[in-house]
Amino acid sequence: MLELTFIDGTGEPLTYSYYREVRKGKAPKNAPTYVNTEPADKPAGEKEKFKCLICGHIYDPALGDPEHNVPAGTDYSDLSDDWKCPVCGTDKYSFDLI
Ligand SMILES: [Zn+2]
Repeated sequence: MLELTFIDGTGEPLTYSYYREVRKGKAPKNAPTYVNTEPADKPAGEKEKFKCLICGHIYDPALGDPEHNVPAGTDYSDLSDDWKCPVCGTDKYSFDLI
C-alpha cells in the first residue's frame, strides 16, 4: 500500500521564519558579506561627520564608503588606518570633525 503525502506548503512558514531569523541576526560588521545600505542601527545624525581638509569631501558614517567596503554605520574612528579619502586619496588623518 502506498501512502501519499501531499506537499501542502508547510515548508513555507519555516523558510519564512528562518529568513526572518537571518535578517534579525545581522552579519558581523567585519564580514565580507556585510554590505548594508539600510540605515545604521543608531538613528541617523547621532554619528559625527568628518570633512577632508584637502578636498572638502565629507565622510558621513550613516553612508559609509561602499566603494571601499566601508559599510554604512561605520564610525570615522572605526575606519581602518589605511582608509583614504575617496575623492582626493589623502589619508584618514587629514579629516577634521565638523
Ligand atoms: Zn579628500
